Amino acid sequence: MPKIAIVGAGPAGCSAGYHLAKSGHEVTLMDKNCFPRDKVCGDGISIESIQAVSMMGIYPQDIRKLASEYAPIDRFLLGISNQISHSEMTQLEAYCIPRFVFDQLLYEKAIGAGCSFITQSVRRNDWHHQGLYDAFDTIVDARGVSAGEVNAIAIRAYWVLKRQDLSQTALIEAQIHFDRSLGVNGYGWIFPVSTQHDLIRLNVGVGVWLDEYSRLKTNIIQLFKQFIHNNETTRQMLSQAVSQQPPKVFPLATAKKGNRVADGKVLRIGDAANLTDPLTGEGIANAVLSGFHAAQAVNMSNTPSAIAENWQYLYESHFEADLRAALRIKAFRKLSSMNYLLIWLMKRNPRVAQQITHAVAGVIPYNEVLTSLKY
Ligand SMILES: Cc1cc2nc3c(=O)[nH]c(=O)nc-3n(C[C@H](O)[C@H](O)[C@H](O)COP(=O)(O)OP(=O)(O)OC[C@H]3O[C@@H](n4cnc5c(N)ncnc54)[C@H](O)[C@@H]3O)c2cc1C
Repeated sequence: MPKIAIVGAGPAGCSAGYHLAKSGHEVTLMDKNCFPRDKVCGDGISIESIQAVSMMGIYPQDIRKLASEYAPIDRFLLGISNQISHSEMTQLEAYCIPRFVFDQLLYEKAIGAGCSFITQSVRRNDWHHQGLYDAFDTIVDARGVSAGEVNAIAIRAYWVLKRQDLSQTALIEAQIHFDRSLGVNGYGWIFPVSTQHDLIRLNVGVGVWLDEYSRLKTNIIQLFKQFIHNNETTRQMLSQAVSQQPPKVFPLATAKKGNRVADGKVLRIGDAANLTDPLTGEGIANAVLSGFHAAQAVNMSNTPSAIAENWQYLYESHFEADLRAALRIKAFRKLSSMNYLLIWLMKRNPRVAQQITHAVAGVIPYNEVLTSLKY
């Protein structure tokens, strides 16, 4: 059996490690951090992410039993402002779970499946210098955005509020606001991430794409403050917060055209392969799914070059069409009235409202939304 090194033990690396170890490979998982560790994120675990982690034997009942903090989500609000917005229920439940908690569940599954773990930082593409290239038959690069091509930036804060100060809806609803001050594709979010106790933790943040960010001539902290100030809900929530954790900034590696995900015996997965959604910055589902498909490429192939070719092929057949559709929708939204038109359509046409919400929640791919908008 080939020896496999997986560098990066986030959702992508743990998923690849789990599936490879389950199929009998000798897997060494490496990460620069010890676990549990935090990852700056919106903590939104979409319905597609829930489906993807079920392939690792993690089901919603396990989340409810094992996670110390979580929030089941069955409502999504998309808006431009508090007045121009649309809220839609989803039948299937998504979750919000602090990554400190969620990533630990995945890490324990990978270790339980037989991966060994070492704390090691691998600089840039220094596989040769650190002896990894000769010691392992396949290297899976799952170092997240530090190995991908950065094209967006985001900021996240945690606020704690008393349950009595929040509406019932605020406890089950993920809100995404396409605030115009964040550029046409930028957005702010308000996600409840821990709703089991009397003190409720909220994740509030802002994401901006770098091509627009440079034109905004400000910085991400100012944009975050502006979002809170412009939005009635965040203004009120902040005034009621009993504690706050200072905001943290982190880059994103969202989809790009003509993506190559393999190079020699190195396979890139998750954010290292720019698999994050270029509309919502959601990347956990594709990170976990890419770990599964890269493991399939290893299992289906006899030589390192066949593994690389098969992973590129599986990437193109399972991820590229959806990411390309999302890039096309992103390009449409450059037209100034597009965000308003989308909310207007959602308010008037229940089918469009359901399809857009389901695409954002990760139930259907974006190419289906594009097809339905044509009719
Ligand atoms: C602010 C923000 C909000 C987001 N919100 C959401 C959301 O709500 N929902 C969603 O689905 N996605 C969201 N995303 C995207 C999501 O965080 C990523 O897509 C996801 O974490 C990718 O998983 P990954 O395993 O590829 O990388 P990561 O989760 O980044 O894991 C990479 C791992 O590699 C390790 N590593 C890094 N460098 C090295 C090195 N040199 N050597 C060894 N190890 C290394 C890290 O310690 C880490 O454990 C958000 C991103 C940001 C920045």
